[in-house]
Amino acid sequence: MDDATAKALELPSLEKGWVWLAGAGPGDPGLITALGLRALSQADFILHDALADARLLTLARPGAELIYAGKRAGVKSCRQEEISDLLVKLAKEGHRVLRLKGGDPFVFGRGGEEAQALASAGVPFRIVPGVTAGIGGLAYAGIPVTHRDTNHAVTFITGHGSDGRLTRLDWASVSRGAPTLVLYMARKFAGEIAGLLMAAGRPADEPAAIVVNAARQGQQTIITTLAGLGAAAEASPALSIIVIGTNVRLAAELSWLEQMPTRG
Ligand code: SAH
Repeated sequence: MDDATAKALELPSLEKGWVWLAGAGPGDPGLITALGLRALSQADFILHDALADARLLTLARPGAELIYAGKRAGVKSCRQEEISDLLVKLAKEGHRVLRLKGGDPFVFGRGGEEAQALASAGVPFRIVPGVTAGIGGLAYAGIPVTHRDTNHAVTFITGHGSDGRLTRLDWASVSRGAPTLVLYMARKFAGEIAGLLMAAGRPADEPAAIVVNAARQGQQTIITTLAGLGAAAEASPALSIIVIGTNVRLAAELSWLEQMPTRG
């Protein structure tokens, strides 16, 4: 980010001894925020996860140290406490630290836990929100997360908790009270969730979609129904966001990226 832009937007600087916890967006590097770009160009250390696009990391200033601090389901690469401890240590040593996470750091991204560690260690920090997969990723598939004619509310749910099991929720209440559900990390339990929703009265032919690699290379939207969701999810690749609700029908009209002759 050039200084003139930063000045025009009155962006703060990532100062020594500070940590910025920033979202990188769901994929397309163009979805990073101006504050995120600013931090990329100023940080001494960038701790990134697997979901942060590699093209963004090329914007690190020369000499900046890039540290992979990610976790993918089933892969034990870095323990959460180790990441938090490292953020605190680097900041206390006086470095400018950027923690770059996929999507939005506060949406199913454990950004809250990292911020708590910084707060309790007395490390000054800034939270830089990002475009979350459950909103921006759906937009890239032509699915408005809310739409006046379909749903006046939206519910974000993670498919599993920290114990790896299906999220403990009152699924019958969710079924009755949540017209549109957006499910993160839910591929494994998609069939089970669909079954619970149908058992509580949701129609088997309710539209559902699986957006694979949303806003990333090879984005693919699989349109299905509640009854077909489990099988469709099983057959789909790993990185996917699931949406259940009548707003899914709008993809037939509004899908744009996947219709482009050369994909952007
Ligand atoms: N903080 C992130 C979510 C991290 S949880 C955010 O705000 O987007 C990781 C889950 O997010 C994945 O299992 C998947 O369900 C979803 N996800 C993240 N990026 C995605 C993408 N580009 N396409 C599809 N799903 C994505």
